[in-house]
Amino acid sequence: MNLSEIAHGLPKTELLYLRQTQLSIAQANILKVVPEKGTQAYLVLDKTIFHPKGGGQPSDRGKMASAQFSLEVKKAIQNQGVVIHWVKIVNGTPTTGAVSCELDWAYRKLIMRRHTAAHLLDHCLSKASSTRVETTDSWLDEPCYVGYRGKAPDASTIKNAQDLADKMIAQGSPVNIDFLTPEQCREVLKNAPNFARLPNLQEIRTVTIEGCDPIPCGGTHVTNIREIVRLSILKAEVMPDQTFRMHFSVAD
Ligand SMILES: [Zn+2]
Repeated sequence: MNLSEIAHGLPKTELLYLRQTQLSIAQANILKVVPEKGTQAYLVLDKTIFHPKGGGQPSDRGKMASAQFSLEVKKAIQNQGVVIHWVKIVNGTPTTGAVSCELDWAYRKLIMRRHTAAHLLDHCLSKASSTRVETTDSWLDEPCYVGYRGKAPDASTIKNAQDLADKMIAQGSPVNIDFLTPEQCREVLKNAPNFARLPNLQEIRTVTIEGCDPIPCGGTHVTNIREIVRLSILKAEVMPDQTFRMHFSVAD
């Protein structure tokens, strides 16, 4: 299925999770339904709580329903600012109009804990190695890692980063979300680990663990690093072109 054909001519989807990361249920309007073979279909809404795959974060999943139909949301995909929901039809036939949406909250909560843990890892690694770290990529499903440029840290640096993460999570610290103008960004974000990779945006959303540098990010996060419970740094994996991956997990 051609995604840009589905998105063509539709308004950009309002991304509810950017400002309300804790929203697990919402009402929306279905603007377009494109049936696929069997019991599958592509749906576009006016607004969504489903975070599409992107920025290292896997797609949210969950359910949608109205009086006439019920659907399982398998995947959300972003195309030119339009979020396309790939669904499996459980009952009835989806049509345009009002719909109730609900996230698979257990999965989203895990991804939020991992995403905030990834930002904390940037901070702890930077402090432990006394250098500014630069991220290359990340993935928050399996395997869960953040990629960095440079030489992989040695065992004692990793231990120091782990000790700092343990201490900070035990103390707790709020995670704040702000929206900055491009002028504010240049000053506020000069130490961000992904500064070089930032697109030229009108408005940039930053995520800041209090006490750490702000990080430009469109992902979903817990409201306090205490909710990570424990960040375990598993190993450093050396990758080609002078890069490495730090594998980690969050555990209860
Ligand atoms: Zn992020």
